[in-house]
Amino acid sequence: MTSNTAKKYDVVVVGGGPAGMMAAISAAEGGGQVLLVEKNEVVGKKLALTGGSRCNLTTSLSTDEIIENTPGNGRFLYSALNRWDNNDIIAFFKGLGVKLKEEDRGRIFPVSNDAQTIVSALRNRMAELQVEVIYNSRVSELLTDQISEKYIAGTDETNGIVSSANVASEPQSNDVIVGTDPQSTKTTAQTIISGVKLQSGETIKARNVIIATGGKSFPATGSTGDGYELAKTLGHTIKPLSPGEVPLTSEDPFTKKDRLQGLSLQDISVSVLNAKGKKLITHRNDLLFTHFGLSGPAILSSSTFALKELEKQNQSAVEAKQNSSLRVQRSNPHADFTRPCHSECNDVVTVELSLDILPDRSTDEIVCEIEKCVLCSGDKSLRNGLRDFLPERLLLYFLINLDINPDRKLKTLTPTEAKSLAALCKNFIVNISGSLPLDKAFVTCGGVSLKEINPKTMESKLVSGLYFCGEILDVNGYTGGFNLTAAFTTGHLAGMASAATAI
Ligand SMILES: Cc1cc2nc3c(=O)[nH]c(=O)nc-3n(C[C@H](O)[C@H](O)[C@H](O)COP(=O)(O)OP(=O)(O)OC[C@H]3O[C@@H](n4cnc5c(N)ncnc54)[C@H](O)[C@@H]3O)c2cc1C
Repeated sequence: MTSNTAKKYDVVVVGGGPAGMMAAISAAEGGGQVLLVEKNEVVGKKLALTGGSRCNLTTSLSTDEIIENTPGNGRFLYSALNRWDNNDIIAFFKGLGVKLKEEDRGRIFPVSNDAQTIVSALRNRMAELQVEVIYNSRVSELLTDQISEKYIAGTDETNGIVSSANVASEPQSNDVIVGTDPQSTKTTAQTIISGVKLQSGETIKARNVIIATGGKSFPATGSTGDGYELAKTLGHTIKPLSPGEVPLTSEDPFTKKDRLQGLSLQDISVSVLNAKGKKLITHRNDLLFTHFGLSGPAILSSSTFALKELEKQNQSAVEAKQNSSLRVQRSNPHADFTRPCHSECNDVVTVELSLDILPDRSTDEIVCEIEKCVLCSGDKSLRNGLRDFLPERLLLYFLINLDINPDRKLKTLTPTEAKSLAALCKNFIVNISGSLPLDKAFVTCGGVSLKEINPKTMESKLVSGLYFCGEILDVNGYTGGFNLTAAFTTGHLAGMASAATAI
């Protein structure tokens, strides 16, 4: 469908992801004439990949739990979720004929196990509501007008403000001015949105514009961060971007070929430790050993905390180095500080993760179980006798780590060795050196500063008629349906509020 450039839309939505489509639907349901502009040839390209292409679209947890599971500014979502929460999202899709099911941890998926079901439901609903959609069109600029507001002292607050688009600071004949003392007339300019410009040069007029361009991860899906640049041109602050829900890298020996690569562990505990070895946060979920380090839901949820701690420890290392350089400089004023100082500069700062492979059992209980195995199968080798106790590759890795020959008979295992093995199961330390880059992350942390957004409407506090929703905002959640919940609820709110002011 092509756009009608002469027409002025009530709402133009930029971006056809889950947030943008939901915003377009809500604005149209609110009676607005809506146009959605998408730079891809299809809508919902990233949505189609979600949940391993099964789309974990929301959760059955309570609002408080949703906020808890949204570590990146979840509290900002309170107003949006108060108006339209996960139960409304579920009811919305059911209303469109989509059958849903609940899996572990309250995760909601379509029964079809196909994310395309969700994409199609949104696309069809837009068509039903006659939302116009233009594809293969990139919004490259936001268009604005200035209106002047004149406040006349000595009047009541509301009567004292008059406005008209593009007026100069002097009162015009058609401005209604209530007040007597011209000396105390104040005029302030206010920026209002007036439309968008496409990369093709075409301009589209709109009363309201909703930016739903997503984050900057998986750029092949269209999320290339355009919206941040658009927002910046109108004075919005962008909080620094970083990878969220991202696999972590490690140089530890387990990453080497044929050791633990490809091994997955179910329902284990992962704790991020600070420099003093104190647990900062613990997540219980599944984990995957890879050739570069660790992945899987438990790691994705731990990633932001591990990366923050890494940054903190890097900063401390830099400061410590600067201080020691300063001390050397004081004692030797002729020292050459432009040359790299090998031992210090080559140190790689890492953060420790503690993996508890058997979180439901104490160390003593594990020792007891090992002792039972020794009694029952003492003549078997360690590698065979303890096979049911731990996945074989992990067992071998642990035994070798503890300098215990896996081919020894189980009955030769000493109580001290059994205790060390149990202790390793409860506290297997992995050194994390970083993460995969932002483009490989599941979400983007950072984004449009929430201080500049009205949480009750998603409208910009800087530009009247400009709205934001979805991942472009400085909000990010764990895996488990929390990011799509945020996209849908903020999209719904932005759509409703923009339609209400436009019509
Ligand atoms: C592999 C993967 C799996 C995931 N699985 C889940 C999951 O199961 N559950 C969950 O809750 N979250 C999941 N997420 C996160 C979730 O997909 C995102 O948080 C969500 O898609 C954000 O929605 P959005 O509408 O804000 O942005 P996006 O989905 O990124 O959509 C933005 C849209 O805007 C368009 N666009 C960008 N710039 C312009 C422009 N200048 N002009 C026009 N159009 C533009 C893009 O082409 C894109 O279509 C997953 C993420 C990934 C990468």
